[in-house]
Amino acid sequence: MSSLSPHSSSEVSSAASAHPLVPYGWDAGWEAEFAPYAAQGLLPGRVVRVDRGRCDVITTAGPVRADTEYVVPRDPMRVVCTGDWAAVDPSGDPQFARALLPRRTAFVRSTSSERSEGQILAANVDHAIIAVSLAVELDLGRIERFLALAWESGAMPLIILTKADLVPDPTGLSYLVEDVETTAPGVQVLPVSAATGDGVDVLAAVVAGGTSVLLGVSGAGKSTLANALAGADVMKVQATRATRDVDGKGRHTTTTRNLLVLPGGGVLIDTPGLRGVGLWDASNGVSQVFSEIDTLADGCRFHDCAHETEPGCAVLAALDDGSLPARRLESYRKLLRENQRILARTDARLRAEIRRDWKMKGAEGRANMEAKRGKVRKA
Ligand code: ZN
Repeated sequence: MSSLSPHSSSEVSSAASAHPLVPYGWDAGWEAEFAPYAAQGLLPGRVVRVDRGRCDVITTAGPVRADTEYVVPRDPMRVVCTGDWAAVDPSGDPQFARALLPRRTAFVRSTSSERSEGQILAANVDHAIIAVSLAVELDLGRIERFLALAWESGAMPLIILTKADLVPDPTGLSYLVEDVETTAPGVQVLPVSAATGDGVDVLAAVVAGGTSVLLGVSGAGKSTLANALAGADVMKVQATRATRDVDGKGRHTTTTRNLLVLPGGGVLIDTPGLRGVGLWDASNGVSQVFSEIDTLADGCRFHDCAHETEPGCAVLAALDDGSLPARRLESYRKLLRENQRILARTDARLRAEIRRDWKMKGAEGRANMEAKRGKVRKA
């Protein structure tokens, strides 16, 4: 067993009297889940990076590079991913992650691939921050797609309109915000400018209450947001930290972390897989994005109404009276069709596993986050 360097003081200073993993998102819920493992003498830790059968875990005894094979037995849903909470055996050489705590939420890539790696992109994410640039024309369909992925994961979506300083007219800006709000029922939409600092404090307050990921196309301003939240150049911070990491054989390594503790509180996950979001199974997510259409459909005469030509269709009636924009319905149909194609290619057993594993956890996580958001607003 190798004894490894402790946390830097900056990582624990805000919670010196609390559990050392609080800055990494440790809470009473995780503590309760971990109790049986604590009784076995295992250490809790959060996975900050996974790479070829090893994972970097921040434990109560500091960072360790653990072997993942104990929790991987050919089950893609059991593969360790960034954001997981693990039970690490401190006596092994190399050290092993013996078990994973049940995930509250997860970003999963559905594929028909036989490869067991890369299906899960990030775990235990509370906030899915969708970055949308105001420097280019709004693509509402794309926003809806990211929202579907976010809802599907169990995380709470938040839309950040970046580069808000490029829209100097306040009225123009409020119209853009309204457009996006109409597209995203129940989701907070926040204009932010990293250049002027406008909105960054509100974003930081939301992010402080849990674990976040940044989604969005390239050019949406994700790295600028990450740097604004980290209060430094994220890549530089990662490089500095990496030099302190030591692997199981006592060698210094030059790896970067995909999970960062933010100075203002909260944790940010940024993995290469999340950057290239592509094909997903997001059927539940799609219904949540278009919740107003689902609500309308309750008023259709036929239970299995396809809202095409059926008599007594409440969706088509809303289209006629203008209360439902035609673009919304088209976008809804397009995402449903796309999702059907993905489902046709996706392994059925994998899908069943996804459902069983964290549909409940997702609801739980959302309830927790809503409680936390309530706290943020009162503060
Ligand atoms: Zn209908």
